[in-house]
Amino acid sequence: MNNGMNENLQIRTYKKSGHIEVIAGSMFSGKTEELIRRIRRAQIAKQRVKVFKPKIDDRYSETSIVSHSEQSFPSEMVESASEIPDKCFDYEVIGIDEAQFFGKELVDICQMLADSGKRVIVAGLDQDYKAKPFEPMPQLLAIAEYITKTLAVCVVCGAPANRTQRVSAENERVLVGGKDHYEARCRLHHTIVE
Ligand code: ADP
Ligand code: MG
Repeated sequence: MNNGMNENLQIRTYKKSGHIEVIAGSMFSGKTEELIRRIRRAQIAKQRVKVFKPKIDDRYSETSIVSHSEQSFPSEMVESASEIPDKCFDYEVIGIDEAQFFGKELVDICQMLADSGKRVIVAGLDQDYKAKPFEPMPQLLAIAEYITKTLAVCVVCGAPANRTQRVSAENERVLVGGKDHYEARCRLHHTIVE
């Protein structure tokens, strides 16, 4: 009968389209800062935000993501990416830091969250210390709607730095650390020790 009202109802029940944003770069390039900046802006816009980080990274805090410039934002630590979806029902914007530590299952989970209408912002190291692509970042970069590549400053020459130099002797791929183990380096000053 009342077509105008039905149309309004339809407009209001339209599902919102979600998407994936990836922030990728070397260590010290400002990934966590950028994630925090976007999450804070979403909060200003009165959106409900939730941030996750992997349990392996408890370097500075267990309850927040913390940047090398000491900015922080509350986050929940999860042991695996599979814990994330159940904790997202009430939130519109999902932040995930240190994505490279979650493994490949994170890809389908981000896809599912974005499919369900959420804005998913994922930050992670795109290369390991040998400059090899660090899974699941390549897969996330492929499926994301928006990509930001962040660069640090080479500690040797001051050029934009796309790589992470391991300065300690350890040679496992995953070694959680900060300036004790790593430096930002440009292509010229990065050396790969096998
Ligand atoms: P990421 O999450 O990419 O490791 P962060 O957001 O935690 O980076 O930290 C970025 C901040 O690190 C910069 O704003 C700067 O204050 C600091 N920083 C320290 N060393 C460097 C460097 N070599 N290049 C750029 N920023 C650096
Ligand atoms: Mg970081």
